[in-house]
Amino acid sequence: MSKAELFSALNAILPGRVFLDEPMSRHTTWRIGGPADILVEPDGVDGLTALIALLQAWKLTPLIIGNGSNLLVRDGGIRGVVVKIGRGLGGIKITGAVVTAGAGAALGALAAAARDAGVGGLAFAAGIPGTVGGAVVMNAGAHGSSMRDVVQEVLVMDYSGCCTRLPAAALDFGYRTSCLKGAPLIVLEATCRGGLQDPAAIRREMEGYQAKRRATQPLTRPSAGSVFRNPPGRAAGQLIEQAGAKGMRSGDAQVSTLHGNFIINLGAATARDVLDLIRRVQDLVYDRFGATLTLEVQILGED
Ligand SMILES: Cc1cc2nc3c(=O)[nH]c(=O)nc-3n(C[C@H](O)[C@H](O)[C@H](O)COP(=O)(O)OP(=O)(O)OC[C@H]3O[C@@H](n4cnc5c(N)ncnc54)[C@H](O)[C@@H]3O)c2cc1C
Repeated sequence: MSKAELFSALNAILPGRVFLDEPMSRHTTWRIGGPADILVEPDGVDGLTALIALLQAWKLTPLIIGNGSNLLVRDGGIRGVVVKIGRGLGGIKITGAVVTAGAGAALGALAAAARDAGVGGLAFAAGIPGTVGGAVVMNAGAHGSSMRDVVQEVLVMDYSGCCTRLPAAALDFGYRTSCLKGAPLIVLEATCRGGLQDPAAIRREMEGYQAKRRATQPLTRPSAGSVFRNPPGRAAGQLIEQAGAKGMRSGDAQVSTLHGNFIINLGAATARDVLDLIRRVQDLVYDRFGATLTLEVQILGED
């Protein structure tokens, strides 16, 4: 089946939600990435179920993304079908101290809804620009908390369309990882439990976190947050700064002068620029400290 035939067939079941040769730079916070053959953004669980059934019938494996805030897509783009889990699967329900959020909900919306309902424990998520699904997969966290501290269970769909509820204990959460990373499963929903708290106190906590972020992170330029994982007992950003790499450039990719672990896109950076800079930073830090920096961001696609 050609790309154009696939596009027509998918567009027949999800009209207006299917994009042909879609630049991935529109779907990553780095604003970098070549075209995906097909990108589909389902409008809800029924649409996703119909899509997955068709893909299975054609033996096509989807690549699932959320807000693309932890992704570097190479300049040649992605062959096959990318499924973006976004606002169409982004409902949020709160009962007492239990918050159930669709995988496509923005973490900021989750944190704000919890705050307004007086549910504490999710304030850490406010400034992380991912979706609930991406955050569960990555065990996203900040300010000493992470998804592991609040998630009770997740609803997942496999590539044959079967849905299962997995308790938190089955998710194997670790430092920016879970057993869902790379697994052939789509996160549909997460149920989180917080503690009842005064909304004004939660608001103050969130404002404190946001102020800290604004002071220490280059939030006005496209990036993917921390590029490298922190080596045990050390902060990658500090090692990069001490190695003298802050401000270093490859093309339009630059190691932030504010935060050494961020690489920002000055305007027209390519994935090649970022990968070149990543390698140079890794070499510098290794030569200076003997420390190996491994990637937190995930690299997808073709050269
Ligand atoms: C400015 C900035 C600040 C950041 N700060 C932080 C921070 O403080 N803490 C932190 O942990 N991270 C931070 N990040 C990184 C990023 O926001 C998180 O990793 C986030 O959880 C990624 O979510 P996403 O929806 O963008 O996922 P994506 O980047 O789209 O995907 C990440 C992974 O999750 C998978 N995935 C996404 N959605 C689903 C789904 N529904 N089902 C199955 N798999 C899925 C993808 O296949 C991929 O493997 C920051 C990023 C930026 C740009």
